[in-house]
Amino acid sequence: MRIGFDIGGTKIETRVLNQQGAEMFRARVATPHDYDTFIQTIAAQVKEAEQAVGVSCSIGIGLPGAVCPHTQLMKNANCTFLNGHDLLADLARELGKAVYIDNDANCFALSEARDGAGKGGNVVFGAVLGTGCGGALVVNQQLITGRNAIAGEWGHNPLPGYTPEIDGPARACYCGRENCIETFISGTGFSKGFNQRFGTSLTTPQLIAQAEEGQINAVHAYRLLVDQVARSVASIINVVDPDTFVIGGGLSNIPGLIEAVEKETYRYVFSPEAKISVKQAQYGDASGVRGAAWLAPSPQPSTETR
Ligand SMILES: [Zn+2]
Repeated sequence: MRIGFDIGGTKIETRVLNQQGAEMFRARVATPHDYDTFIQTIAAQVKEAEQAVGVSCSIGIGLPGAVCPHTQLMKNANCTFLNGHDLLADLARELGKAVYIDNDANCFALSEARDGAGKGGNVVFGAVLGTGCGGALVVNQQLITGRNAIAGEWGHNPLPGYTPEIDGPARACYCGRENCIETFISGTGFSKGFNQRFGTSLTTPQLIAQAEEGQINAVHAYRLLVDQVARSVASIINVVDPDTFVIGGGLSNIPGLIEAVEKETYRYVFSPEAKISVKQAQYGDASGVRGAAWLAPSPQPSTETR
């Protein structure tokens, strides 16, 4: 069986999945505030989970942050006390077995590719349109993380076809560049762009409610959002041509958005005969912890050769 951890700023979510993806155990504890307590907490959670299911489990951890592929040390973690530590080695020593760690967008995509909206596809791209705009690529049920662990970071590509007359004034991104996809089609980017243009202070749900009521500025903003997401999705399809493009995060819950994006994307993909599939994520908030559980490689069937 597989233990998955989703490390949040305040809570650590634990789930155990069997090889078919059925949930066998779940728990939630407060996130500690220092490194040593964190290691001890994970060890205690592993012990509790393994006692509950009665077998030794593989261990995967999902968190906003990354293991630097060059130094093996944690970086960019939301729990800042983890940064600069060799978390993989320290946990492996404490637990006596290998531990797998990846960021939340990668866990999301892996979860959806294994047994979610992208199930059965050889190539699945997962995108999370929430506070930011994360993304990840899964091929044959394996994450493609890349040489620098930045594969799938489409949110920091420039918005395809950016035109000031259509998309509005240039937007600065925290990454240091301008007009990143994330500054337009994340939930945060969407409402920020509208509020700057019209001098309002609406949240994304308020803006969507206004669009549903037919408020003209909100309707236009929503239509532009659909078009911008479609342009961004098409740029991925033209490169990796996934079986399914799965969208999660807060924006994916807007009724009709996914269907509208799929329809619009046909305008921007290369082949007129293309068959594309844009789907809403199946597991919602549970994708992080489920994907973490899937991080450990599957046990290989023993192949005896003489
Ligand atoms: Zn950026």
